[in-house]
Amino acid sequence: MTLKINHVSGAKEAESVRSLVQEEVEGQRAELIDLSLKIHRNPELGFQEVRASRWLTGYLRKKGFRIEMGVSGLATAFRATYGSGKPQIALMAEYDALPEIGHGCGHNLIAASAVGAATAAKLAVERYGGTITVLGTPAEEIYGGKAIMAEQGIFADLDMAMMVHPGNRNAVIIKALACVSLEVEFWGRAAHAAAQPEEGINALDAVLQSFNAVNALRQHIKSSARVHGIVTDGGEAANIVPAHSAASFLVRAEDEAYLDVLKERVLNCFRAASLATGARLEHRWGKTYYAPMRSNRTLARLFGRNMELLGHKIDWSQRETGFGSTDMGNVSQLVPSIHPFIAVAPPGVVTHSAEFASYAASQSGWAGLVLAAKALSLTVCDLLASPRLRQRVWREFRTGSAEGRQSLGQTRQ
Ligand SMILES: [Zn+2]
Ligand SMILES: [Zn+2]
Repeated sequence: MTLKINHVSGAKEAESVRSLVQEEVEGQRAELIDLSLKIHRNPELGFQEVRASRWLTGYLRKKGFRIEMGVSGLATAFRATYGSGKPQIALMAEYDALPEIGHGCGHNLIAASAVGAATAAKLAVERYGGTITVLGTPAEEIYGGKAIMAEQGIFADLDMAMMVHPGNRNAVIIKALACVSLEVEFWGRAAHAAAQPEEGINALDAVLQSFNAVNALRQHIKSSARVHGIVTDGGEAANIVPAHSAASFLVRAEDEAYLDVLKERVLNCFRAASLATGARLEHRWGKTYYAPMRSNRTLARLFGRNMELLGHKIDWSQRETGFGSTDMGNVSQLVPSIHPFIAVAPPGVVTHSAEFASYAASQSGWAGLVLAAKALSLTVCDLLASPRLRQRVWREFRTGSAEGRQSLGQTRQ
């Protein structure tokens, strides 16, 4: 009987913490929007996010978080913590922009939602104990800041890691491909292109042959894999046989094993072009490896249920189109993680476009920001309140299979 009464009052209390957390996000609405707009108006490329990291840590410090700047040896990375001990739940803030189109990936909204969720979740930390952390993870777009931070071990002590990315649909279980970059150069010999072409070795032809070979290869690789690139040097003048050419490629696959297979087959395209043209090939695989995303389904369903309770529909399917790669994949290999998308733009508007950048500073962007902050902080409440739920998340992470579908109430497709 006593147990029952405790259970009922516990549930009542959990509900009151959940509603206080939502009110707290609501109370910060104007400040969070302002923070997102400041970052949007001052786009900074990867590892140059000096102002964004200063604004974000300034806000968190004001709300009582302990701040460490320059963690993992990265000047614009930070860790902001509130509370102490286990469990340690981290929310990821991204804040880098893209060249030319600024916040065309909406990372200004990611940053503001993580900060809003964490500062609201303080209430849950005070009630249940544990630690809430915001990790400021720079240079997602080009250098894979989280991949570097993962190597430095900053995620080792975490129990869960979450973030929300703005997009054009609401989806909680997402896929992201393993990805590695490839830089190639061909070295030929210059000659007058009309007077003594027989003396020349055409490095541009080597690049063109490589593209043709990759295009032919593409039909015979797994449909989820991606190989794409650009020419970065194609010669100097039409009357000179190009002595040098260069190209930049990305190779992506659903898992690391297939990525290894694909890397060799892609490299063979360049080797073949070198042999055919006589231009010497030099290649360098990128230092940064983006691991595939391993969405924790238990966590994802919990987050999705909170989205639904907040009155939003979820796309529960795992659509296999329209995904790229993210350095959150590297985090997800180490600790149970989610990287859901929240719609801030209509389905036809894609990320990495100027149009999406304008949605990242619009009414719908702000609605997405507040929704993300609420759903994240409610999910933190649930996790801090329930050791059994945390165990379930970890059991899935260790065994690779989700359980408890029914009890979380999410089975639809
Ligand atoms: Zn992006
Ligand atoms: Zn992004």
